Parts: sequence; C-alpha cells; structure tokens
Amino acid sequence: MTDWNSWLQERDWQPVAPDEFKALPNDEKLRRIRHSSAHVMATALRGVRPEATFAIGPATEHGFFYDVHVDSPLTPEELAAVQEGMKDVSKQRQKFERAVVPHAEAVEFMRDRGERYKLEILEKLADQTVTFYRNGDFVDLCAGPHVPDTSFCQNVKLLAASPAHWRGEQNPSLQRVSGTAWDSRDALKAYLAFVEEAKARDHRVLGQALDLFSFHPWAAGALWHPRGLVVRNELAQFWRGLMPEYGYQEIMNPVLYKPDLFHQSGHWEHYHEDMYIVRDGEGEPDWLLKPMNCPDTMLYYKTRSHSYRDLPLRIAENQVLHRNEVTGALHGLLRTRSFVQDDAHIFITNEQVQDEILQVLELVDRFYSTFGLEYVMKLSTRPEKYMGELETWNAAEAALSAALTAGGREFSVDEGDGAFYGPKIDISIQDSLGRKWQCGTIQLDFQLPQRFDLEYTAQDGTRQRPIVIHRAIFGSMERFIGVIVEHFAGAFPLWLAPVQAVVLPISDEKHLDYAREVTAKLRKAGIRTELQQYESLNYRVRQAEKQKVPYILVVGEREQEQGTAAVRRHKVKEQRVAPVDEVIAELVEKIRTRELDVHQPTMSARFQETAAATTTDNAY
Ligand SMILES: [Zn+2]
Ligand SMILES: [Zn+2]
Repeated sequence: MTDWNSWLQERDWQPVAPDEFKALPNDEKLRRIRHSSAHVMATALRGVRPEATFAIGPATEHGFFYDVHVDSPLTPEELAAVQEGMKDVSKQRQKFERAVVPHAEAVEFMRDRGERYKLEILEKLADQTVTFYRNGDFVDLCAGPHVPDTSFCQNVKLLAASPAHWRGEQNPSLQRVSGTAWDSRDALKAYLAFVEEAKARDHRVLGQALDLFSFHPWAAGALWHPRGLVVRNELAQFWRGLMPEYGYQEIMNPVLYKPDLFHQSGHWEHYHEDMYIVRDGEGEPDWLLKPMNCPDTMLYYKTRSHSYRDLPLRIAENQVLHRNEVTGALHGLLRTRSFVQDDAHIFITNEQVQDEILQVLELVDRFYSTFGLEYVMKLSTRPEKYMGELETWNAAEAALSAALTAGGREFSVDEGDGAFYGPKIDISIQDSLGRKWQCGTIQLDFQLPQRFDLEYTAQDGTRQRPIVIHRAIFGSMERFIGVIVEHFAGAFPLWLAPVQAVVLPISDEKHLDYAREVTAKLRKAGIRTELQQYESLNYRVRQAEKQKVPYILVVGEREQEQGTAAVRRHKVKEQRVAPVDEVIAELVEKIRTRELDVHQPTMSARFQETAAATTTDNAY
C-alpha cells in the first residue's frame, strides 16, 4: 500500500514564477486570480465541511465557481465561515505549486481520497500525464495555470451556493459555490455595486413595482397591465411611424396554419420540436401555431406577380408568435413562449443587397439612438454546409460588409457562423450598466424564395428569383421592453412613461377645482396625467417619485391665482413655478420629438466588462 503523504512529498513541485506572472496581460492575470480563488475556496471549504469532494472549479466571466459534493446544502452561516476561511488562506500566502503525475498514479491517489468526480474526469484523460496543483494542504487535479501564491486571491466575495448537476445526471447531486474575484479592492467594490444595481433594476421586480406586467405559471407570456401596455403601444407606434418613411407596408396574417405551410418552408423538418401543434381531433396535427412570420409572408408575395419595378418590396408584420422554449430557458420578458417581433421581410434583386442593407442599418441607428442604447454588430459568414451558389454567397457577403463599412460602423466578423441559407448581421445592444443583449438581426435568405418558387420579371423580361432579407430591430418586443426597463431603471423618458404627469393640490378643500382644471388641460393636450388627492402632500409626492412619474405639478394658493404650477422633474432637485400653458407646450414638444430626457444618476460604479474567461478553461 502506498503512503500517499510521502508520495506527495516526493513529487517534483514547481512554483509559479512571480516575474512571469507579473509580465502577463491584465485579463490573463484576472483569469488566473479567479481560477486560483476556486482553489482557495476549496481549501477553506475543507475546514468547514471535511467531507467535501470536488468536481470542477473554473474561472467565469466575473469570478469562479466550484461544484462540490457535500452531505447537505451549505447554510448561509457556513458560507460566511468559508469566506472567513478564504481570508486566512489568502493571508498565509500559500505557494501554488505544480507537479506532473503519471495518469495511473493520479487515479490511485484520487481513489484513495474518495474523489469520485475527479476519477470520472481522469477517465476521460486516459493515457495522458496529468498535472496536480497544491497550495498548503490542498491538492487538486488541475491543468492550471495559477497565480504565484494565495495572497493574490484577497479581493474575493462568495455570492451563493446553489444546486448543480454533474455531467448529464438527472438530479443535482452537487453544490455550486460561486464567487467573484478581482485584482483590487476597488474593482471588487465596483463589481458588487454593479450587482446590487442590476438586482434593483431587474425588470421582473420593476414590472411588479410599477404595475407594468406580471407573470403567471399558467400563461405562456407576460400579463400586460394597463400601464405596461401604454409603454408597449408607444413603442409600436414609434415603429409604425417610421415604416412609411422607409418604404415599408404592413400586413397581418393569421397565427394558425395547416402543416403544409411549414413542410414547404422547411421549418417542420428543422424546427418542429419548437412548434405548438393544435388538434381538432385525434392523430396528425391539424394546425400549427406559427413560430415566425417568414413562411406566411411568402404566401402574401405569391398573391400576385411582381416585376423588378416593385423591388425592393418591404413587408412588415407584427403578429403574435409562439415557440416552445424549454422551461429552463425562460426568463421574465427576456425569453417567453409567446411574443411579438417587429418583423419585416424585404424582397430584393441580387444587385440591391448593399443599398438595402445600408438603409436597414440607418433604421437600426434611428431606433437605438432614440433610447440612448449603444450597440455592436457582428457579421456571420458562410458555414461549411450551405445552400445556393458560392458566387451568390461571395457577392452577398461582400455587399454586407461593404454596407457596414460604408456606414462607418465597426463590426466583428464571425467566419462560418452564418445560417445555412444565408449570411447575417447580429446586433447586440448595450444597456446603461454595460450589459450586452442580442436583439436585432438582419439575415439574407437564398432558400425561402426557392422553396416557395418566388419570382419577379426582370428588365429583360426573364423570370428571376428575388433574395429575401429578414430583419427585426427591437427583436422581440417583450425582450426589448425587458431590456429598456432595466436600462432606464423604470424611469422612462417622457414619451414612454405610462403616467407622464401628476397634479397634486396642496389642499383638497381649497385647490381641488384648480387642480382638476390643470389636469383636464394637460389631458386635452395628450399628456397622460393623474390627479392625486386625499393623502398628505408629502405622501403623494413620495408615491409619484416611487412610481417614477416624470413630472410632478403641485398647485396651491399662489398657483391658482396666477394660473401656474410648481413643476418638478423626476430625479431633479430644483422646482420651478411656470404658467400651465408654458409647461404643457414644453411637455408636448418633448413627447413629439421623443426626447431622451432621462435623469439617471450616473453610476459611479458603472461596471466595465473585462475580458471574459470561459467556463471550460482550467477545468480538466
Ligand atoms: Zn487549478
Ligand atoms: Zn423571417
């Protein structure tokens, strides 16, 4: 029998050279700090739960986790004890050391320790030499790399312990202990402030607090409350308002179709698991709920013949869609089973790709800048398996990239990540916390026109096939609203606010009539206004602030005599007294121009994303 302690001593342990670490780029340093923090956590956890065995402990985007097996879930008190223990380990400056170990000996060692997960990992690594890392008493099977010693892991905060699955196991048998780790105290503080802010802005919480929408386990999508629907309708109106200017026409088709439509489009073949089937009897599906607007828009195209003079033909549709998303993928408004896209399909000739994409990009800019959203674009090109002519692909990709360049836009290229039916541009918006959300997409499609045998008559009289552009800018309306609720922290610009102004009489007895008069005037001008009475003035002001109403108009003796109101903008300290007509004119103008008049406190801790470490690195 092997004495494993002396076996360990006899390994050829190599330290991590501090100079080498110092010379690394910052993101690589951070990645090492994060993964090393997982080892530090494991070291401390041993002190709290000696029975712990370990699965994988990779670095993540902002920290690390370690999936561990313990006899019972960790309590918050135990988690706090682990955090304390990590502090001690860090203070001890334990050196990280690496040793190369023959596979067979590694297996024997882990078997002796009862590390069943490490044994399974080793199975996959059969016939390789593997490496161990150690710090203090803690020894781990690990590919590294690490920081020189544990003192580099002092800006760490444990965030949670939650159930986790081991590789395809049905039931969670592990606890995922996760934390965040940084290279300075300030960076850690900034990140924790960001997490708090993001929590406070969670659209599910704000949706409830501001009475915008809610969720019910029986409903496939959000329940839209009157106030939330105002926001939604304003967005739709904004969208509709821009369509004629850019030459779009809107259609509306049903949500329910015979399966034939999706056989012809090819969606049944590739997509049927995500589609809802509706039966009127037994057996075969009788109807399908459409998961996208594309196939039925093709039916519209075929209702008459087209000539080159009709192209580009820009057809928008805003119908409700249904997709059978798995429960785990659902997340508030960000992913729902029932949703609406600001969808359009544009029919063009091969020669029109560049100009049309340029126009769509201009529209993208109009949309997002209205909300103060920055965005990044990614061009995805021909994958290995593709349909259509290589020549068409090359020309289309060149046109897309020329359009992107012509607009002076920065974009990244993802070679080979396009759909099999055409190249595409994905657009991710960046919110006020610096988080990225994929919303818009512009896709070329060579396939659908072929499947539906679409044609137009060219100038020379020949029959030609058009190309289709699918494009959505908000993406899903639900998702976009979820994103902007968080982006604005619920304090919408005036034009979007469900209630735009409240009028508060100082005294119900003396000033109610005047308050009613002011309210009526504002409403007549199209400003969504509420009159609040009964409670104390202070209370009513606080309520209006909580509801993030953009304008509060207080009226009393003086205002009544002068035909004025004391006006305060949400989040702005100063109050001013102005003639009611003047206030109305000002608000109407802001609404008309959709002014981005938000007064968000700039987040001192606005968190900048650092280079992301993937969750597969480090982990064997
Ligand atoms: Zn490691
Ligand atoms: Zn489409």
